[in-house]
Order: sequence, then C-alpha cells, then structure tokens
Amino acid sequence: MSPVPAAVATAFRFFRASVIGVAPLGPSLVRVTFGGPELAEVASGGLDQSVSLFLPHPGQSEPVVPVEAGHDWWRAWRALPEAERAVMRTYTLRAQRVRPDGTTEVDVDFALHGAGGSGGAGPAARWAAGAVPGDRALLYGPAVADNRAVKFRPPHGTDLVVVWADETALPAAGAILESLPSGMRGVAWLEVRHEDDRQPLATHAEVTWLVTGRGAPSGPAAIRAAEFPAARAPYVWIAGEAGTVKELRRHLVGERGLDRRAVTFTGYWRRGMSEDRMRAEGAGAE
Ligand SMILES: Cc1cc2nc3c(=O)[nH]c(=O)nc-3n(C[C@H](O)[C@H](O)[C@H](O)COP(=O)(O)OP(=O)(O)OC[C@H]3O[C@@H](n4cnc5c(N)ncnc54)[C@H](O)[C@@H]3O)c2cc1C
Repeated sequence: MSPVPAAVATAFRFFRASVIGVAPLGPSLVRVTFGGPELAEVASGGLDQSVSLFLPHPGQSEPVVPVEAGHDWWRAWRALPEAERAVMRTYTLRAQRVRPDGTTEVDVDFALHGAGGSGGAGPAARWAAGAVPGDRALLYGPAVADNRAVKFRPPHGTDLVVVWADETALPAAGAILESLPSGMRGVAWLEVRHEDDRQPLATHAEVTWLVTGRGAPSGPAAIRAAEFPAARAPYVWIAGEAGTVKELRRHLVGERGLDRRAVTFTGYWRRGMSEDRMRAEGAGAE
C-alpha cells in the first residue's frame, strides 16, 4: 500500500472534532454534527466534498491515529493492529456553518444500512447509530477549497445536470442540487429505502424520489425509462452502490451515447464488501 502522495498531503490535513448533535433524518439516515476549534480551518469545497473519518472502536475513548508521524501517518496507521487503529471511512461534508458564537460546525449524514436492526452494518454505521455528544472523531479533510476530493465538475457550457444517488450519496447529491445556479436545469433520481428518508431540498431541479421499499424501480430501471430534457451539453453525476453505478454508466455512455468525459461516476460502497476491502482491491466504480 503506497503512502499518501505529497500533493495530497498538503491539500489535506487532520482536524480533531467531537460530536455536538445527533438528529435522525429518517429511518435510514442520521445527521451527526461535529464541533471543535480546529473545524474553523476546514476549507470545504462544498458540493460532494468528501473526507476521511477516523472513528474509535467500541471501548476506545478516541480514534487511534499516529498523527505525530506527519506525512508518514498512513504507513504508521497501517502498521498498527487492526483492532487498535481507528476505523477509517469516507463521508461527505453535507454542510459547514459558523454559529452565532463564532465557532464552526460541520454535518455528516450517515446511512445506517441496518445498524441496530437487520444486521450487516459496518463499524462506521454502528458508530453513527450510537453516537452521542462528546464522542470524539478525527477528520482528514481539505485545507484548501479547490481540492481533488470534489468530483462534481461540470464542463464549461453545461446546460443540464443529471444526478442519480442512493442514500449514501444523498448528502452529496443534496449539496450539489442546492448549489445549481438558477439558469442551470437539473433532473435527479434519488433512491431511498423508506418514504420518510426523503428530505426537503432547496433546489429548482426536478427531483424524483425512488422509494425502493415501496416497490419503486431501481435507479437503472427508472433512468432507462426516462426521457432527459433536451440539452446541448448534459453533464451527469452518479454515485452510490458500485455495481449500480457501473450499470448506469454503461447505459449512459454505451446506450445513450453521452460523452464519457461528461459523466462523473463514483462507487461509494459495494454490496458485501467493507470499505477496507474495497480500498485494498481497488473495487470502486471510478
Ligand atoms: C466519496 C464518498 C463519499 C461518501 N459519503 C457518504 C456519506 O456522506 N454518507 C454515507 O452514509 N456514506 C457515504 N459514503 C459511503 C460509505 O463510505 C460506505 O457506505 C462505508 O462502507 C460505510 O462504512 P461502514 O463501516 O458502515 O461499513 P463497511 O465496514 O465498509 O461495510 C460493511 C458491510 O456493509 C455494507 N454496506 C456499506 N454501505 C452500505 C449501504 N449503504 N447499504 C447497505 N449495505 C452497506 C458493505 O457492503 C459491507 O458488506 C461515501 C463513500 C465515498 C467513496
């Protein structure tokens, strides 16, 4: 496993954070709000800005990450026993705010994927399901707003934005749709399990919620059947389960003939595979 390249290491750094609020967003999602003096220096690029979250194992009071190793932290972290080193998972910064008292807070929305219920959930979902104010985490995030963890980059001249996301990519899709300028058309298919997972979004884009628990078609079926608004230069952003993302991309580029450079696609998780294994096997859909 290679160490973090120097360019990445300067654009990103560690920020200490602790939980200051937890709010359910529906049966499948929980919003965890983090605070802490270091968060004022997070330079979020907004949109689908992702970060690495380091979380403690049950019984640990804080995540174990050898930050003192500087740019070599990755190698030092990997060298620790798995049961000791912090759990590392990728999440989206849904929002960053300055509070009236001048302190900064950030929201991260966690899909629970069965934590506390049907089983199968991983350590990050379990951590989020049990999070309470005071819990500590470490965020490896952007020190500069123009950073490569922001993937939503419509080419100049784009006149239509098309979005598909499942519940893990809903935080990113929500931020993207809310940022669309008034002159930019947008259509989105957002896939959630329960009706109550739908969220109000402050966007003029045309949003179709696919509530799969109520028998709605999955993303690929819905998008295959859809007619896109006429556009000279459409741009597509799709993220969610890696197999579904691949299938959608194949449809959009292969069958609809969209320019592959105008399709940004990211596998956010893979069915039956933890993020550690995905990373080790390079099994994302990107
Ligand atoms: C750029 C990026 C941004 C992301 N942003 C977010 C975000 O804002 N919010 C968010 O919730 N997730 C987000 N994810 C996805 C998240 O990183 C994964 O879902 C991650 O696997 C969760 O870690 P875990 O420890 O809970 O499960 P893991 O230990 O990684 O996996 C355990 C098991 O759970 C399964 N699993 C993982 N996710 C799901 C799911 N959604 N539904 C059903 N089963 C699942 C896996 O297939 C595996 O079998 C993002 C991923 C990327 C790459």
